[in-house]
Amino acid sequence: MECVFCNIAEKKAEAEILFEDDNIIAFLDIQPVNYGHTLVIPKKHHDNFLTIPKDELQKVINATQYIAGAVKRSMNADGFNIVSNNGDPAGQSVYHFHFHIIPRFNSDFNLKPKLKSYGEGAMREYADEIRSFVSKYKDIYNG
Ligand code: AMP
Ligand code: ZN
Repeated sequence: MECVFCNIAEKKAEAEILFEDDNIIAFLDIQPVNYGHTLVIPKKHHDNFLTIPKDELQKVINATQYIAGAVKRSMNADGFNIVSNNGDPAGQSVYHFHFHIIPRFNSDFNLKPKLKSYGEGAMREYADEIRSFVSKYKDIYNG
């Protein structure tokens, strides 16, 4: 399937590239939340945060930390968000894993969603449910 980010990594599509090495490439998002909004992607195609192998994810994270520092300083930002949207309801539109680096300013709008609160005992139930899956995936984490 045609992938716009693979095309950028392979230089078949244009992008405002900020940095690249053998494994990753960082470029400006064409529809920025704030100017300087940057995407960091692995050059190899992986659909999302769960399917990218750990060693490749590590390289993307290292590069994201490096580039985020440069974006923050160059944009004189007061802060930044690192975001990874995974799946349709989370807002993923390009199914090639990436981190967003979004410069933020004291004068910005608020990105926080409306927060829920847990009913009596519900927090423990949710935690138990998640803990059962955490145990299930332990081998993958250690592996
Ligand atoms: P997401 O919605 O988290 O999958 O993020 C995909 C991002 O890619 C969006 O913010 C788009 O604006 C951005 N995008 C899509 N096509 C391009 C492109 N050709 N060059 C740069 N950014 C792009
Ligand atoms: Zn791709």
